[in-house]
Amino acid sequence: MAASYSDPASVSGQRLKTGLTKLGLTKNFVIAHASLKAFGPIEGGAETMLNALLASSRGILMPTFTYKTMLNPEVGPPRNGIIYGSESDLNKMAEAFHADLPADLMMGVLPEVLRRHPKAKRTSHPIQSFAGIRAEGILNTQTIHNPLGLIGTLADSDGWVLLLGVDHRVNTSIHYGEKLAGRIQFVRWALTRERVVECSGFPGDSEGFNSVAPDVEKYTRRVEIGGALVQAVHLKSLLKVVVQKINEDPFALLCERQDCERCTAVRWP
Ligand SMILES: [Zn+2]
Repeated sequence: MAASYSDPASVSGQRLKTGLTKLGLTKNFVIAHASLKAFGPIEGGAETMLNALLASSRGILMPTFTYKTMLNPEVGPPRNGIIYGSESDLNKMAEAFHADLPADLMMGVLPEVLRRHPKAKRTSHPIQSFAGIRAEGILNTQTIHNPLGLIGTLADSDGWVLLLGVDHRVNTSIHYGEKLAGRIQFVRWALTRERVVECSGFPGDSEGFNSVAPDVEKYTRRVEIGGALVQAVHLKSLLKVVVQKINEDPFALLCERQDCERCTAVRWP
């Protein structure tokens, strides 16, 4: 049996729970994005974090996206933020979506731990699935053509975005604000066990999203736990700010990279 000890430098479940409860969201649904590394060692790891989130919210959801299902065709519609035919090697390694396909590790370990929880439900979008606990009514509003529509349902339910040791560059909800503002959405293709599915409503690039921070300052609550900053942003207010920013400047929230295909497609002449 492995030795069991408590590292005084590590963050306990109780400390996480106490910290997260200070955000005042025990009666609210939350969409969470997390980097556990930012907290330093956590006793019990990702499961401890998930339990603390469940104890400090009404229900939780997270993206469990699966980019490995994506196929890049040789040709397709113009202004689609993609270089066609550039990923034929990746196409060969593409994996068909199924309910148990793990969430992409790019999003950290927490989404996968949530997905595997006995009480979790997961949606069936082949690229942009979400998993949640006590959030079934929200999850059920996702459709293939409006993959982020469930963010709108969450906003209407007085939901909040939780950024746990991460910043707005991973804040998926901003993409839904972009859609509400009328910003171009892209088409992607995903492999399932039956066929290749065309997925509309694929969002743009998120590298420029931190420029929203000053505008949502007054809708943001903060708490520090371990070494990590946890921010809670009121979702409906965030969406309103994003729409307003894009209405004022059609190029708002884009990144500065010259070779960014998706931001270039938004800036299309
Ligand atoms: Zn970009």
